Amino acid sequence: MQFSDFGLDNSLMSTVEHLGFSAPTQIQQQAIPAAMAGHDLIASSKTGSGKTLAFILPAIQRLTKNRALSKRDPRVVILTPTRELAKQVFSQLRLFTANTQFKAVLILGGENFNDQVKVLEKEPEFIVATPGRLADHLKQGHFYLNGLELLILDEADRMLDLGFSKELTQINNAADHRKRQTLLFSATLDHAQVNDFAKELLKKPKRVAIESAHTEHEDITKRFFLADNLSQKEVLLQHFLTTETSRQIIIFTATRSDTDRLAKLLTEQELNAVALSGELNQSQRNQIMDSFAKGQHKILVTTDLASRGLDLINVSHVINFDMPKHTEEFVHRIGRTGRAGTKGDAISLVGPNDWLSFKNVEAFLQQKISFAKVDGIKVKFKGLKPKKEKVVKAKVTVVKDNKAVSNKPRKVIKKTFLDIEDAGAMKIIKRKKLTPDQIEDSTKKEQD
Ligand code: AMP
Repeated sequence: MQFSDFGLDNSLMSTVEHLGFSAPTQIQQQAIPAAMAGHDLIASSKTGSGKTLAFILPAIQRLTKNRALSKRDPRVVILTPTRELAKQVFSQLRLFTANTQFKAVLILGGENFNDQVKVLEKEPEFIVATPGRLADHLKQGHFYLNGLELLILDEADRMLDLGFSKELTQINNAADHRKRQTLLFSATLDHAQVNDFAKELLKKPKRVAIESAHTEHEDITKRFFLADNLSQKEVLLQHFLTTETSRQIIIFTATRSDTDRLAKLLTEQELNAVALSGELNQSQRNQIMDSFAKGQHKILVTTDLASRGLDLINVSHVINFDMPKHTEEFVHRIGRTGRAGTKGDAISLVGPNDWLSFKNVEAFLQQKISFAKVDGIKVKFKGLKPKKEKVVKAKVTVVKDNKAVSNKPRKVIKKTFLDIEDAGAMKIIKRKKLTPDQIEDSTKKEQD
């Protein structure tokens, strides 16, 4: 399939050609025609797959072809979970609106409120925003959404995880009319809150699931290393920084204080590192991201603040100094490398405190992960054993259609036991602990 097959406006096609994109990516192939046909959309696609254009192109196309519902209200609102991602979406949008008469503005938390009021008074057609600040302006009547034609939620799962559901509902309600189209993008579609939200916001949506967050990213080599403690992690880090052939590197830590401490440590070792943490104000954050993007720093040390969306083509390595607390962040973190067909390396350090997160990542990726070793670095930590599952004997009454259909004593593992209670279909009457022999015995009897 070619971009020319979509029937896009000439101005959009010339920008696509100018950027040198020869063919649409998979998400673009599926999402663009569905969105251009006016359908609501719920789409998942792995990080770095070109999803920004998958919504920007149909959005501009729609505005080019349709008359505005209102002359004053914004016609397209794009919401993203983080300021960094919003800036990135905005810069792609600007590339494509440059040849049009449409105005696009960026409304972010942490920036001057009154300046934003002035910007909104210019009645832009496009707003790219983080939800909290946009909802504030909406509440104060600085703009209205009666004429909104397209609401785009980028990384909806992350927005909901960050607790923006109230603001999203508020924005949705302000633009609740028949002609509105909604496009929802999420890293994963197995997210209960996203699905509930989609039911509320979308009308008969088309589902586009290209590759889920679980899918192996072919261009990224993942390596995992065990570490006894923090100082051993630092030794390992030092080893990678001095032995790997790398372009730029992003190091993820668990906390802001670790970010600063580690960046300082690396700077003392005359490595060109900079820390990006949420404690900085927005202009400091912008400055750091800009200088990193321009290649003025080799290493960026950060928290999950920078794990989403950022498109930095020169990042060859991602190092998880600590494993992420939220499992799906793993995929986003490592997705900062291996962008747009380049190769990337993801190195993860797993100490005792990371073990649970590591096991969750392993389950999430649906693969058995083995650990690599570094010659000359002796690690004692071998991982933690799972807690022994408690086996109990319970008399279980199985209830179906409000009738007891069985009342046999059974062997149940504690976890299963809880599931049974949770399922609600079965009622536990009595339980007592069994010795291993009794368990084996009762299992045999059941099998007989
Ligand atoms: P995204 O997933 O939207 O962050 O895009 C990831 C990167 O892929 C960005 O650098 C885009 O400019 C680039 N990109 C988007 N669409 C295409 C395409 N059709 N062909 C090649 N690169 C693309």
